[in-house]
Amino acid sequence: MSQIAKEFGIDKALKELGLKDINNGTSTGKDFFSNGEIIESYSPVDGALIGKVKATTKEDFEKVISTASEGFKEWRTLPAPQRGEVVRKFNDELRRLKEPLGKLVSYEMGKSYQEGLGEVQEMIDICDFAVGLSRQLHGLTMHSERPGHRMYEQYHPLGVVGVISAFNFPVAVWSWNTALAWVCGDACIWKGSEKTPLTSVACQNIAARVFSENGVPEGISCLITGDHTVGEMMTKDERVPLISATGSTRMGKIVAKEVAGRLGKTLLELGGNNAIIVTPDANIKNTVIGAVFGAVGTCGQRCTSTRRLIVHEDIYDKVKDAVVKAYGQLRIGNPLDENNHVGPLIDKDSVKNYLNALKKVEEEGGKVLVEGGVLEGEGYESGCYVKPAIAEAENHFEIVQHETFAPVLYIMKYKGDVTDALKLQNGVRQGLSSAIMTNNLREAERFLSVEGSDCGISNVNIGTSGAEIGGAFGGEKDTGGGRESGSDAWKVYMRRQTNTINYTTELPLAQGIKFDL
Ligand code: NAD
Repeated sequence: MSQIAKEFGIDKALKELGLKDINNGTSTGKDFFSNGEIIESYSPVDGALIGKVKATTKEDFEKVISTASEGFKEWRTLPAPQRGEVVRKFNDELRRLKEPLGKLVSYEMGKSYQEGLGEVQEMIDICDFAVGLSRQLHGLTMHSERPGHRMYEQYHPLGVVGVISAFNFPVAVWSWNTALAWVCGDACIWKGSEKTPLTSVACQNIAARVFSENGVPEGISCLITGDHTVGEMMTKDERVPLISATGSTRMGKIVAKEVAGRLGKTLLELGGNNAIIVTPDANIKNTVIGAVFGAVGTCGQRCTSTRRLIVHEDIYDKVKDAVVKAYGQLRIGNPLDENNHVGPLIDKDSVKNYLNALKKVEEEGGKVLVEGGVLEGEGYESGCYVKPAIAEAENHFEIVQHETFAPVLYIMKYKGDVTDALKLQNGVRQGLSSAIMTNNLREAERFLSVEGSDCGISNVNIGTSGAEIGGAFGGEKDTGGGRESGSDAWKVYMRRQTNTINYTTELPLAQGIKFDL
């Protein structure tokens, strides 16, 4: 155990979460023997080895998929409110283990402890939502055009749902999918990120215990672990009708093609390139809070992180100076220490991408306003701590058109009205989150109108970062088009069936066709 791990009680958290020195990365909910390769998980906080997890082999996967498929046959017959009751009990355990799980998320992923707790809270919230939903999985009733007929639609569970998740939300994304899929009557197989394998094992431990105590069939919550090759076992398998994949656009394009090739369904939650438009009517103080939190929170590693600030020329200097000044107050360091605002990047590859973005923006003619760089010395031994940077840039720069998953904020000027700002905002391939800061009703409404923001999430007077679980979450264009979490996102985990019942003694045929026997 490293000094930081001891000081912040990581060993106690690992014990409470049932983690061992070597953990099984494959699980159907019961004991499982695997010969898988060992993945070591190092903390970006201090570079220390946290634990080891055995990856999933092809043979393991075969056992997982057959157990999940069998378990589904029984689980689907349980009334949905009873499935909801199991999710409620799972949620009780999440509430009890919120602190150790939040701590592990922070230590293994590098986000602040507060954000780690916030992520577990999102799990709790979506489970609450799912419990209510378990009594509301309703379809419509329509009037039949034929006399003596009744027509309605109902939703049945889909089957085995595959969930592939990214490192930056190592626990919440799993529950956004599974809490809904479970009440819908599906079995779930989760492939978490190979960069955060211990948090995945910790979550599966909780689900496995609660499910077994409540007589849930084996295989309803399964875990597989490893890199893209393990993900591919699931995307290629016809026994998995839906793949919900969260991660980079690069990954999403590969997964979409693979699953479409076998006519499976996908729910894709991919990269963003999110902007805040700041109009002359904006509240500057709130703009600075929203922009700084959005750009440096989770060290710029949220899909909804603010990457571009599009500011009207009349207030450009004022906003620029205020944001630059705020960056001067940021404290970078151990994310478990609540005094720090910014933790580390996930690994050294991410550091490389960050440095490359800073180099490229200058090569393309941008001007660095707040200098970046890698921090060294005491407290920064992992080599993953970087300074949040700001650069003046043009929207058409190649580097600005890309999502750099790091704390680099591009600031740019617009002239004219909100339509001109929207051209810049919408002028990228990604379409996840967007925001406008304005007290002008006309500007706000134009931003939200059909000719306004083309993103899945569009906010007025709050930043781009984060979302509530009650709304459907996701984005357009290169963000993949998927929606998960609240609203009617549950429908993707079910299949719709239209039923027509004839309660007469006749069989009238459509289009007036007569077929007398
Ligand atoms: P990544 O694409 O490298 O990996 C994500 C997951 O996909 C991992 O589990 C990985 O093993 C798996 N994977 C990769 N290639 C695969 C393949 N060919 N087949 C099957 N599985 C495969 O992403 P990352 O670096 O972990 O996460 C950062 C990215 O995720 C960013 O682009 C971010 O914007 C995005 N993200 C999006 C959302 C959203 O809701 N839109 C949420 C979180 C993260």
